[in-house]
Amino acid sequence: MKVRKSLAYFIASFAPLLLTACQTSSKQPNRIAADYLIENGMVYDGSGAAPRVADIAVRFDRIVFIGDATDDQFSYANRINASGLIVAPGFIDPHTHADNQLTSGNPEQRQNEAFAFQGVTTVLVGNDGFGSTEISEMATQARRDAIGTNVAYLAGFGYIRKSVIGDDDRAPTEVEASRMGKMMAQAMCEGAVGLSAGLYYTPQNFAKTAEVVELAKIAGQQGGYYDTHLRDESSYNIGLVGAVNEAIEIGTQSGAAVHISHIKALGPAVWGQSSRIISLINSAREKGRKITADQYPWAASGTRISNALVPRWALDGGLAGLRERLGKATTFDRIKREMAANLERRGGADKLLITGKLGDAEIEIGQTLGDLAARSRSDPLDVAIDILKTGDARVASFNMTADDITAFAKQDWVVTGSDGSTGHPRKYGSFPKAYRDLVVDGKIMPLSRFIRRSSGQTADIVGLKDRGYLKVGMAADIVVFDSESFVPRATYEQPRLLSTGVRYLFVNGQPVISGGQLTGVLPGRPLLKETQC
Ligand SMILES: [Zn+2]
Repeated sequence: MKVRKSLAYFIASFAPLLLTACQTSSKQPNRIAADYLIENGMVYDGSGAAPRVADIAVRFDRIVFIGDATDDQFSYANRINASGLIVAPGFIDPHTHADNQLTSGNPEQRQNEAFAFQGVTTVLVGNDGFGSTEISEMATQARRDAIGTNVAYLAGFGYIRKSVIGDDDRAPTEVEASRMGKMMAQAMCEGAVGLSAGLYYTPQNFAKTAEVVELAKIAGQQGGYYDTHLRDESSYNIGLVGAVNEAIEIGTQSGAAVHISHIKALGPAVWGQSSRIISLINSAREKGRKITADQYPWAASGTRISNALVPRWALDGGLAGLRERLGKATTFDRIKREMAANLERRGGADKLLITGKLGDAEIEIGQTLGDLAARSRSDPLDVAIDILKTGDARVASFNMTADDITAFAKQDWVVTGSDGSTGHPRKYGSFPKAYRDLVVDGKIMPLSRFIRRSSGQTADIVGLKDRGYLKVGMAADIVVFDSESFVPRATYEQPRLLSTGVRYLFVNGQPVISGGQLTGVLPGRPLLKETQC
């Protein structure tokens, strides 16, 4: 029996080669060598096309077959019965803060389970302008230590600016500007997929538009894109509309495609502006500009007290600079006055839920800023200032309306993202929550569209040429999930609960999740952009 099996294996493996060698034209089927055969799943290919029941064969890190597999077609296969399950390209998350997970000394962290259990096989890191430009070094580390999901890198505008001119509120000198350009060019040559910015954040907000254009140009020249957390998602400085116009302008002047991070209308002052933003973007797209966005399906954003409430000028020099200014009566009064206006922009103290503490802040998590103020019978602003004197706090900021969220979600240029960061359930539950909100409960779009905006479309935006689609020859990044139990469990109160419903998750042809459990393998890779340098 054993002998016969290996004989059959031998014939299956080498007979086609022998036939080819003899240049015989044979009608006999060539057996395909496969490591895994995912059978009878409902296959969505990532293009948005209607699904079909099919089998998918995986060999090494590639998809080698999709269709109706007959029994004698494969010389070898681990068979996975996917009947009744959804089979889709592994999801691609264009905006995460998984940097720390993937560089952790702990291999369990590097499995990147928060994302894997959402069906995500590739995460972007370096978003919001924070990404290092040391791409080769990060990629070498990822290969050496091994990681659970793939990762692609954005070089950060903030990282570059801070490296060259620190936290100062001024324009770069000519020499500094040229150093910044060199850092960006180097990052692209080493495989960054583009430039990220977070113009809302200090010190990035000290930059004028033209300064950003110069670096976006360098990204664009290599086919990279400009990924932006807008200068204003609310009414803090130039306003939401002004900030979207600035992003479009950066795209126009630099020639780089523009991708707006976590698109939203933040706070009562801009609620309802989604329709205006959508028509701005649509008309730019009609003129041929490449503009897309991602969105997470939560009504609360995640940020810090300092970022939500403190005016930017007061953060010149970072938190240390702020503390110095809080010590002077004149600046103290002005900061407090402007913080009051910012608190109103955020919808008031009851809309800020404390989800974590930083530094030496003495603070109870799970309470709103309003709760804390009521309990200590003090002004919420004084509570916030007390926190900032010794540290900072993470907050979930409830600042979006369902109408705006839905309006953005419906656009064909909006894809799924998580902005996954510690202390917010979006890190653990964004993809299944978007699936439930948009497909199952909201019935806003068919499943084929949800899968397209979570895989193939995102691969196109990021420029990942062999990911995002189930096609022969593509990388075998595949999610197999159950449509009923694909559900987020993370909440604002318990943000670290893993999502359910993913039965199998293949990354580069290896199962990171099998039978709903982590396998412990770390087959992820750094996905570096090929550039001409
Ligand atoms: Zn952001």
